[in-house]
Amino acid sequence: MTKIQLTPMLDIDEIKQILAEVPDPEVPVLTLDDLGIIRDVSIDDKAGTITVTLTPTYIGCPATAAIRKMVSDALTDAGYPEPLLKEQLIPAWSTDWITPEAIVKLETYGIAPPGTGDDNEPRRCPNCGSLEYQLVSQFGATACKSLYKCLECKEPFEYFKCH
Ligand SMILES: [Zn+2]
Repeated sequence: MTKIQLTPMLDIDEIKQILAEVPDPEVPVLTLDDLGIIRDVSIDDKAGTITVTLTPTYIGCPATAAIRKMVSDALTDAGYPEPLLKEQLIPAWSTDWITPEAIVKLETYGIAPPGTGDDNEPRRCPNCGSLEYQLVSQFGATACKSLYKCLECKEPFEYFKCH
């Protein structure tokens, strides 16, 4: 009896599309694509393998393991083989890689996006737009963000720190 091995069809465009829509585990309103985390996707048709290169936002960020799992799950759920995951640490991820659309999404979600100045402070309160706020804690729910309180609307808000 001849055993027929079926090689899965690897559609690079579809794979990229699936990966682009994977949400960030910490800020679900953003996708990995919004954050610029997915650096490269390649396929080997003969071997039937997918290689995904990721750059973690923070070295040692606990979200990195979650992101790796979500990337694997997104592909296997779509019927693709589990990808080989590579990490690219150079150049290091920077908040500059966040797309302009994602900056708007962040603020709409209530997180102050990375500032543009040198002071690494929020530009304004994401709730009411006030410039009057105070730092509550250098670390918010995650190390990537700090916690502020607006003096105008009294709402606390998180700021996505620049780096
Ligand atoms: Zn406010």
